[in-house]
Amino acid sequence: MSKRMYPHVTTVNPASGSCEYGCCYCYMNELKRNFPDVRKKYSGVSRMDDKALKRICGSGKVYFVGSGVDLFGYQHGLMPAIFERCYAYDNYYLFQTKQPYRYCQLTECFPNKSILATTIETNRDTSLISVAPAPDVRFAALRETKKWLRHDADMPNEAPTKWSIMPRIAIIVEPILEFDFEEFYEQLVKIHPDIVVIGADSGNNNLPEPNFEKVCELIDALTAALLCVRLKDTLFDRYPELPYERWTDDIWRIDNE
Ligand code: SF4
Repeated sequence: MSKRMYPHVTTVNPASGSCEYGCCYCYMNELKRNFPDVRKKYSGVSRMDDKALKRICGSGKVYFVGSGVDLFGYQHGLMPAIFERCYAYDNYYLFQTKQPYRYCQLTECFPNKSILATTIETNRDTSLISVAPAPDVRFAALRETKKWLRHDADMPNEAPTKWSIMPRIAIIVEPILEFDFEEFYEQLVKIHPDIVVIGADSGNNNLPEPNFEKVCELIDALTAALLCVRLKDTLFDRYPELPYERWTDDIWRIDNE
């Protein structure tokens, strides 16, 4: 996850324990080094932080559930209890992972008004920066998730009815890494995500990054092909000359009830 989260969300971290994926750029690395309490919370075995779980309450909010650790790695066994809490309150729930295969397994468990986000930083091999599933594997899992959700245009009449607002699919390209334009663009568009968010490394982690022109080319192409493409402040920090508007609007709440 990145240093600066998303506009219009309230972040809660109901799960403790170390993250399975060990990304070298994770903003938690520095926090864990500097703050003993953070180090304690995000070390060791998976366990619930009951106090944090109880912060999910009320109605009409957008909760980003799990920014400090990927809930769908070691912590996935905690998800039934987290879902149960979410079900009890009428909010939007943004989940984010690098292991979207779990979305396929859990699709029918997600509460109403869920947004299922997957981080995909590039189409290229990421094994030197993270032990998370490779981008190809994440794309494949997302395609399966879409089938489960019956989001595919081929099956417009087969949508399950348990949700008043269907779970939406988001792809988070952050931190954006050097990519192969044709392949990455096609993979992204083929999923037809409801939301694409693009951001950059916020921690000067010396990652392989695309140049300014290539970033613009991707933004232009995605904006032409998809309805909702938003750019995080981290991208403007990294590429200050970007000729685009900053993201300010609330894209999470859709009301088709
Ligand atoms: S998956 Fe997310 S929380 Fe886990 S190490 Fe990577 S960036 Fe950090």
